Amino acid sequence: KTNTSSTAGNTGGETGTVEESPKETAEGKKLVIGFSLPTLQEERWARDKEAMENYAKSKGIELLVQIADMDAQKQANQCENLISQGIDVLILAPHDASSAAAIVESARASNVPVISYDRLVMDTDLDLYISFDNVKVGEIQGKYLTEHLDKGNIVWLAGAPTDNNAKLFKQGAAKYLQPKIDSGDYKVILEQDVIDWKPDNALKIMEQALTLANNDIQGVLAPNDGTAGGCIQAMNAQGITDKVVITGQDAELAAAQRIVNGEQDMTVFKDTRKLATAALDAAITMASGGKVETNGAVTNNNKMDVPSLLLEPVAVDKDNIDEILIDSGYLKREDVYKN
Ligand code: BGC
Repeated sequence: KTNTSSTAGNTGGETGTVEESPKETAEGKKLVIGFSLPTLQEERWARDKEAMENYAKSKGIELLVQIADMDAQKQANQCENLISQGIDVLILAPHDASSAAAIVESARASNVPVISYDRLVMDTDLDLYISFDNVKVGEIQGKYLTEHLDKGNIVWLAGAPTDNNAKLFKQGAAKYLQPKIDSGDYKVILEQDVIDWKPDNALKIMEQALTLANNDIQGVLAPNDGTAGGCIQAMNAQGITDKVVITGQDAELAAAQRIVNGEQDMTVFKDTRKLATAALDAAITMASGGKVETNGAVTNNNKMDVPSLLLEPVAVDKDNIDEILIDSGYLKREDVYKN
């Protein structure tokens, strides 16, 4: 088992974690941080949660976590609740990018700084955005597909329209796909958003595409591992999976297994341990009135240029999966190579 360093965060157990003396606010109270997650549908969010909980514990911080189950109203209510419990900072991964602006405004009215986590809250004044370079995520996916499929029929899926990341991923992928479409190398059988990122919605779209094309499909741009799983299920039913190049994102265990058994071609690794650690460190700084160093990086959210910390996503396929996902301690070898 690889022992991850504290800077990389630690999702695996507490071994060797030294508890620091509790972090305090300027008034000398123990810090309380609120963390609002959109869903646990994807394994990655459970990993964000675990990494954040472990890191908060090691820092002596009280962390209050809420899961919104893909319900914008529920997320708003949960955040109201956190704010009324006196949190010092709110770390918010919005389910709905636009309606979450009201949450940020309500936090601001109570002098609670907000960190937009992984997903950007649109149309409001924000203190900080901590995420990955999401255009780059899409570029990695589009580049992979075009490097592994010269010509053919493709299905182009994008994530939930309520999630600003979905737009950024698509924008990145388009840099590679659009020229191939314009030149006639790629013919798009279906191009569609996957509502709520649901694997089942992706499966239905893929079934429809397979029917439309008489199974004559060579490439699938799936925006994450969950939707890739749905598409692969549809392709398995037709027995064509091994002839199709299909992308993913998140380095979920199920996707890693599909990569080593040849069903899925790649995924994009975003180290949630690093994201959680960076967000909590920033929250601590903000709670004590400090300024988080972003080196001038900003992301526009239709209202302002939001100071941003963007981590690097990494392309993973069968050639580097051991090095990137197993050696880093993110996934266990015995789990990945289970079958
Ligand atoms: C995240 C992805 C995730 C997707 C569905 C996106 O905002 O960046 O990692 O797969 O939401 O939850």
